[in-house]
Amino acid sequence: MAKTTRAPESPRARPPAIGRLLTSGRVVPLLTLHGHQRVVVALRQAREQEPQAGPDWDERIAERARSLLGPGRRLVPVINGTGVVVHTNLGRAPIAAAAARRAAELAMGYTNLELDLESGGRGDRQDLLQDLLRDLTGAEAAVVVNNGAAALLLALTALCSGREVVVSRGEAVEIGGGFRIPEVLRLSRAKLVDVGTTNRTRLQDYQAACNPKTAAFLRVHPSNFRIEGFTQTVPRARLAELAHRQGVLLLEDLGSGLLGPVTAATPGEDPLRQSLAQGADLAFASGDKLVGASQAGLAVGRADQVARMRRHPLFRALRPDKLQLAALEETLLCHATPGRLAEVPVWQMLRVPLAELRRRCQAWAERLAALGVAAEVVPLRGAVGGGASPGRELSSWGLRIGHPGRRRVRQALLGADPPVLVLERAGAVVLDARTVLPGQDAELLGSLASVLAPAAGGRPS
Ligand SMILES: *Cc1c(COP(=O)(O)O)cnc(C)c1O
Repeated sequence: MAKTTRAPESPRARPPAIGRLLTSGRVVPLLTLHGHQRVVVALRQAREQEPQAGPDWDERIAERARSLLGPGRRLVPVINGTGVVVHTNLGRAPIAAAAARRAAELAMGYTNLELDLESGGRGDRQDLLQDLLRDLTGAEAAVVVNNGAAALLLALTALCSGREVVVSRGEAVEIGGGFRIPEVLRLSRAKLVDVGTTNRTRLQDYQAACNPKTAAFLRVHPSNFRIEGFTQTVPRARLAELAHRQGVLLLEDLGSGLLGPVTAATPGEDPLRQSLAQGADLAFASGDKLVGASQAGLAVGRADQVARMRRHPLFRALRPDKLQLAALEETLLCHATPGRLAEVPVWQMLRVPLAELRRRCQAWAERLAALGVAAEVVPLRGAVGGGASPGRELSSWGLRIGHPGRRRVRQALLGADPPVLVLERAGAVVLDARTVLPGQDAELLGSLASVLAPAAGGRPS
């Protein structure tokens, strides 16, 4: 390597070392968020861009490093101002505090995950859950896998591989994130036989499709959309009767996993119990939609079919871990114990009285007005989300913030600490109060103020 001669630098002009910065109040939060390695790299880059030391050098370097690192590299809490209770982009259901505590407790030590405490032999991680799911759904047996898609994939693979599965054309849907029923069937090596038309399918259509290779009829909840008008579907009980006369299974993918009775908050959703009572042999649902737990896939129904699913090698690849099981178990206890459903945030949000939402908005509007931010309290229409009750709206209350730069405001709120996801409606930024969790009021106002009234110091008193 050629030797270069450099002009001697005066010690004062040389930029200070990075090490000292790592303990400064501006940089420590970056370390927590991004880790040592990335922060050091960013600080070095920042130093190259700002080689000139000066009285505010630390500040400039930290600020540059922060913008180089960017936001959102880590999972951080986000305030949900959309009114969509089960919001897939925001991690679906926030879980109950008791469920989170339980998962944390069990995660930090050893558990009887696969130990039978009575015999001392190998046990099954799913025994306790199975009892709860049986009580809540009336099923003979249950098995829990990693998510709803996995439950369906495992069932089709274990029970229908190499045979035919009959699906109504109106139900051969894409649920989101590329989860398409025809593709799941292909993956499971079952042959899709679609019957009827997009809008109308009759019992005779299913009957005509039956042959010795038929393994099952599959009913799928038409997540995220609704066909209206000239439509016809076969009632579940009649389809079950035909399936059993033909000696084939009736499988039902319910998506959202309603465990309690039908409620006003979730129109059009059928509980798992109802699906089984009307003759489905197996029903599938997600754990992090209306069940309100962490990610999981539930399969409930006939004991012999559940046993076949558990025996299949794919089960090993799709099984949930102890954290998921612990959170799910505690959440199911909330469903099964009178008075505890309110602990499940999804249900707390779905059932909150409108008057309470309105009062909360009024309090926020007053605090913002004190900072010079005009926010109007308005009635809104939110949604259950997670594919549940498609096309139905959920009355709510929220804030409407008329701002000339609404697109910029929406973006800036995502960069606030904590980030806030809001909606844009008819030329305004709109924030639905239903999905702002209890206890987030001060943080919400802080983030709103930092974007809408930075001159007022960012934080309301
Ligand atoms: C959400 C959904 C799924 C997928 O469940 P995941 O838990 O997201 O894997 C499958 N089917 C229906 C009808 C759904 O609504």
